[in-house]
Amino acid sequence: MLPVESDANGLVDCATHGRLSYGIVCSHLVGAIGRNFFEIPRGEVEEHPWAWCDECDKVIVETNGDEQQIEKKAGWKLICLQCFAGITSRNHLEAYITEVEGDDQEP
Ligand SMILES: [Zn+2]
Ligand SMILES: [Zn+2]
Repeated sequence: MLPVESDANGLVDCATHGRLSYGIVCSHLVGAIGRNFFEIPRGEVEEHPWAWCDECDKVIVETNGDEQQIEKKAGWKLICLQCFAGITSRNHLEAYITEVEGDDQEP
């Protein structure tokens, strides 16, 4: 599903933090500061946390969750959990997403 890979243990090699579990972010959040983003927290819906910016969220809404179009827009990146935490702390959390795909309920 993702164009990026982890090893069999679900770990990635981070140049800064070493070998760690990972989160997934859209390419726009890498290096971003003060940007609005949405997050699926770890363990709620997904085994790994996901975060994406408001631009990607527009595509998610407009395409009704079309994975290919979202992936094209987002350019998903696998990053270690320390880097993930850094990104989420430097940007503005718009909302946690705890319901995904074909479920109209509000969290
Ligand atoms: Zn994005
Ligand atoms: Zn890292």
